Amino acid sequence: MKDKNQENKKGRGLIFIISAPSGTGKTTLVRRVMEALPCLRFSVSYTTRPQRANEQEGVDYHFIPHDVFMEMIEKDQFLEWAEVLGHYYGTARVDLKALETEGVDLILDIDTQGAKKAKEKLDHAILIFLLPPSIDALKERLMGRGLDSLERIQFRLAHAKSDIEEAHWYHHIVINERIEEAVEKLKAIIITERGQKEKNHGKSYGRGLFEKCGKSV
Ligand code: ADP
Ligand code: 5GP
Repeated sequence: MKDKNQENKKGRGLIFIISAPSGTGKTTLVRRVMEALPCLRFSVSYTTRPQRANEQEGVDYHFIPHDVFMEMIEKDQFLEWAEVLGHYYGTARVDLKALETEGVDLILDIDTQGAKKAKEKLDHAILIFLLPPSIDALKERLMGRGLDSLERIQFRLAHAKSDIEEAHWYHHIVINERIEEAVEKLKAIIITERGQKEKNHGKSYGRGLFEKCGKSV
C-alpha cells in the first residue's frame, strides 16, 4: 500500500474521510470528536437533499437546487460528487482549498462512492469507516431518529448492506456500539495520525491534544 503519510512531508493538514451507512451515528460521533479535539474543521458539502428541521444552512450542508448542482458539475467545481439515496452530494474544490490554507486538519463526511474518488485525488487522505454493531441496531437507530418512513428505512438498510462491503479498503474501521467508546477510538486514530505526521516532520507541534493550530503550524 502507498504510504499515506508521504504527501504530508510537505506540511499540509491531514484529511480524514469518514463514511458509514446512514443511521450508524456518524454525525453524532463527528460532532463529539470535533468538540473534544482542537484544530479540526468539518468540510461542508453541497446537496440537493431538502434541509431537515435540525440542520443549518452552511453548517451541516449548503442546500442548493438541482440545476445549480448540475451547473457545478459541468464547471468541474467538485473534487468529488455522488448520488446517494436519490439526492446529490458533493465536496467543492474551492472550499477544500480554503480550509487547507487555514493550517487545520479536515473531516470529510462522504459516502463510499465519493470516498473512492477522493482517495484517488487526495492520496494522503486517511479513510475511516464506521460500522453499526448490527443491522438490527442500525434499524433501531433509524427508527429512533424519527426522520424516515418504514419504507425509507428499508431502502436505507438495503443500501447499508452494499455500503458495508466497501469497508475493507478503508484504513481504519470503528464499530459504533457504545458512543463513548467509539468517540475515544476516533480520537485515538486522529491523535495517532497527527503524531505520525509530526514524526515525519522531525518535530512536535503538540497538535494532537493542545490548541495550537494556524498557518504557522
Ligand atoms: P448518521 O449521521 O450516521 O446518519 P446519526 O448521527 O444521525 O447517524 O445517528 C442516528 C441515530 O442513532 C441518532 O438518533 C443518534 O442519537 C443515535 N446513535 C448514534 N450513536 C449511537 C450509539 N452508539 N448507540 C445508540 N444510538 C446511537
Ligand atoms: P445525509 O443525507 O443522511 O446527511 O447523508 C447521506 C449520505 O451522503 C451519507 O452517506 C453522507 O456521508 C453522504 N454525503 C454527505 N456529503 C457528501 C459529499 O459531499 N459527497 C459524497 N459523495 N457523499 C456525501
